[in-house]
Amino acid sequence: MTARAPAARLRADACPGALQTHAAADGALARVRVPGGLLTGGQLQALAAAARDLGDGALELTSRGNVQLRGLADGAEAELGDRLATAALLPSPTHERVRNVLASALTGRAGGHVDVRPWVRALDAAICADPTLAVLPGRYLATLDDGRRDVAGLGGDVGLLALSPAEVALTLAGVDSGLRTTPEGAVALALAATRAFLDERAAQGGTAWRLAELDDGVAAVTMTLSSSGRHRGQVPSPRRVEPLPSLLGEASGPLLVGTSGQRDGRVALVGVVPLGRLTAEQAELLARLADEVQLTPWRSVVVPDLTEDAVDDAAVALHRTGMVFDADSLWTRVTACAGRPGCAKSLADVRADAARAVADGALPAGGARQHWAGCERRCGRPRGEVVDVVATETGYLIGGA
Ligand code: SF4
Repeated sequence: MTARAPAARLRADACPGALQTHAAADGALARVRVPGGLLTGGQLQALAAAARDLGDGALELTSRGNVQLRGLADGAEAELGDRLATAALLPSPTHERVRNVLASALTGRAGGHVDVRPWVRALDAAICADPTLAVLPGRYLATLDDGRRDVAGLGGDVGLLALSPAEVALTLAGVDSGLRTTPEGAVALALAATRAFLDERAAQGGTAWRLAELDDGVAAVTMTLSSSGRHRGQVPSPRRVEPLPSLLGEASGPLLVGTSGQRDGRVALVGVVPLGRLTAEQAELLARLADEVQLTPWRSVVVPDLTEDAVDDAAVALHRTGMVFDADSLWTRVTACAGRPGCAKSLADVRADAARAVADGALPAGGARQHWAGCERRCGRPRGEVVDVVATETGYLIGGA
C-alpha cells in the first residue's frame, strides 16, 4: 500500500537547491543534485574547492546521494552557481532542484542485469530539456535499479527495476505498476510516468509533493501510461499491481563496505563517511584516486576501477582521513541530522553526541542501526529498520521509549 499524506499540502515544498539556498543557523545551505551519485574526479575537486572557499570546509552526503554545502556567506550563491556550472554540475538552473535520481551502487562494474549509468544520463538530460518538468516538486525522486534491488525500495515516485537483461519493471511510489518494458524503452517510460504524475497532481489541485500523496495516484498514472499511444509497443498491458516487496524479494539493502571485485578484474573500494561529513581534504584525495566516484544513499563512497596493487594503499590513505572500511565498525550503523549548531530547531549537538557514543562503544539500543536527530522531524532518517535517537528537553528518547 502506498503512504498518503494526512492532508493536502498547504505550501510548495521548500527543498533547498544550489541556487535556492536554505537559511540555516550556521549560514546558507546549498544542496547540489548529483544524479546517480556519479561524480567525475574533476567535479569532486570543484565541490571540495567550493566547500573550502565558500562554505564550512566540508561536503554533507545526503540520503539521496546528493551533496550539501553549509555555512555559505551572504551572496555566495552566485559564485557557487558559477563554479557548479563550470563543473557541469548545474546543467539547468530552472531544473536544479528536481534532478533527484538514485542509481544502483557499482552499476556497470559488478552485479546487476544492466548498466544503469546511461539511464541516469539520459533521464537527467531529458528532464532538464523539458520546461514543463521544471515544476516538479523538489521531493520528486527517481530510482534506477540495475536488478540488485538496492535502490528500488527507497521510495522513488518513479522507478525502473531491471528484472533481467531484457525486461524492466516500472515502479510507482513503492508499488509494482505491472508495466514492463525493455532496457531501451526504460527511460522513455520513466519520463512518461513523470509527466503523468505531474498531470495527475495538477488534476488533484497541484499541491502534492509526492506521487504517494495523490488519491489513487498510482492507478491513475498506470492507466494513463497503459492507454497512451505514446508508448504502444513498449508497454505491455498491465499484468498485475502488487506491493513492491513481491518484486524485491531478498532486497540487498545498504551496500556493504570494504572491497568488491569488478567484472573487469579491477576492484572497487566502498567506504563509509562517518555522519556523512566529507571534508574537502577527503574529497580531494578521492578525486586523485579515481576518475569517477559514486556517492551512495548510505553516506558511503564507491571508489572504483582500482588495480589489485593499488587497493591497499588507497584504503590506508582514506582510512587515515577517517573513512571507514570495516563492515563491523559502529559507524556503519549510525546516521545523524545536522543538529546544533547548524539547525536552530535542534535541542542537542547530535553529531558530537553520536560521535562520543561511537568512540566510547556505547551506542544505545544495543548498537542497532540508528538515526540521531535534534528534534522530532528526524531529517535525513534512512528508510528501513532504524531506531530513532531523538533529542528532547530532558535527554534522548530512544526508539520512542
Ligand atoms: S531533525 Fe530537527 S534538529 Fe535535526 S536538522 Fe531536522 S529540523 Fe533540525
